[in-house]
Formats: sequence, C-alpha cells, structure tokens
Amino acid sequence: MIIAIDGPAGAGKSTVAQKLAKRLSYRYLDTGAMYRALTLRALREHVSLDDAERLAELARGMTVRMEYRPRARPPFRVLMDGQDVTSEIRSREVSAHVSQVSSHPGVRREMVRKQREMAAGGDLVAEGRDVGTVVFPRADLKFYITAAVGERARRRHREMRKEGYRVSLKTVQQEMVKRDHMDTTREVNPLRRAPDAVVIDTTRLSISQVVNELLRIARDRMEPRTL
Ligand code: C5P
Repeated sequence: MIIAIDGPAGAGKSTVAQKLAKRLSYRYLDTGAMYRALTLRALREHVSLDDAERLAELARGMTVRMEYRPRARPPFRVLMDGQDVTSEIRSREVSAHVSQVSSHPGVRREMVRKQREMAAGGDLVAEGRDVGTVVFPRADLKFYITAAVGERARRRHREMRKEGYRVSLKTVQQEMVKRDHMDTTREVNPLRRAPDAVVIDTTRLSISQVVNELLRIARDRMEPRTL
C-alpha cells in the first residue's frame, strides 16, 4: 500500500507522516528532503539556481537515502551521497531557495524517477507537494494536510526558535507565503489537492489527533485487502 500526503509548508505533514509510517511499520519517504538536498548541493557548489540543465545533472548524479535510526534526534536521517545532511537541509538559506530549484522541469523529472524507484516494494508513506497528483497518482490512499496560514507560521516559528534562529513571526510567515506561492503557481507539477485526496485541516488539532484520524482512515481502507 502507498499512502501519499501533500500539503503546504508548516501544515504538519512531516510529523504526522513519520508517526503514521512508524505505527503501520511502513517506510517513510520525504520528497521535500530530496529537493532540499539538491538545493544544498547547488549552493555548496555555487551552481546558479537558474541553470536548469546543470541542476538536473546534479540531481541525476546524486543519491539521497532516508534512514531510520531510533536513537538519533530526529530519528529519520537524510543521507546525501552517504553524508548525513538532516540538519543542513533545514537551514533558512536552503528553505529560501528550494522552491526555485524545484521549479525546473528537468529536476522534477529526475526526482520523480528516483521517488518511484524508492517506492518499489510498496508499504510506504510518501510526503511532499505532488506525491498524490504526479508521483503516485494511483496511491491507495491520499491525504491533503493543511492548516490556516497564521497557525502554520506559528508552528514553523516555534521550530525555528528551538533551532536557535532569532527571527520574527512576521518574517517566518512572509517567507512561508512566498514559498507556498511559488509551489502552487509553478508550471510543472504545482502543489494541488488531488481530487481523490482526503482533506485534513490541522489548525485546531493536536498531532496525536491527526495521526489517529489518518490511522483510522488507513485501517478502514486496508481491511478489505487483508480479509
Ligand atoms: O516539504 P518541505 O517543506 O521540506 O519541501 C521543501 C520544498 O521542496 C517545497 O517548498 C517545494 O518547493 C519542494 N518540493 C516539491 N515537490 C515535492 C516536495 C517538495 O517541489 N514533492
């Protein structure tokens, strides 16, 4: 079974996708981490973020893996060419540029190919922006997770403060709105709700309420298969 989760920034997708994967003993695929890893690589190697061809080439030559290490914090680690880049890919600089990098069709083609390869074997929770619409249009179950923009900004702001960033809520919200705008208006594979996705608004819900709701729906769908 493949469960696809899409939605805007800060809606809580990663947290609930990881918990859902753990509860179901499924693998977890963070497609955003792949675009972030490529952005980090491009910034490190001073590749112009407008150079579509060079970026697609970089994407082709790069391996990104996700590893679960129960003792690590956070336990889902992102490895780029074998190197642990879990925290670097969450930097403000990467966040500010990732939408530009992910807007190039050649980059997306390569990432979608890698993501489908990683899904071989099934039993996967995949999370991103085009997972239910483009990467796995025939996913067994699709969710579109969203929340009011003010709440999403507050959550991201809290996270960033914990990581040591001294940044105002207003700036966080502005950066988030800008990224969402780029992600929803780009020409190739923009963020969109798949018509068959179950919409979950997490504005007034706790993480465990969301996870329990997703689990309930997932188990409902799985039952006929396992009977
Ligand atoms: O999910 P996360 O916020 O880490 O994603 C970072 C960025 O990667 C998004 O803002 C978007 O530009 C890009 N992305 C994408 N397609 C996906 C996942 C992420 O374009 N499937």
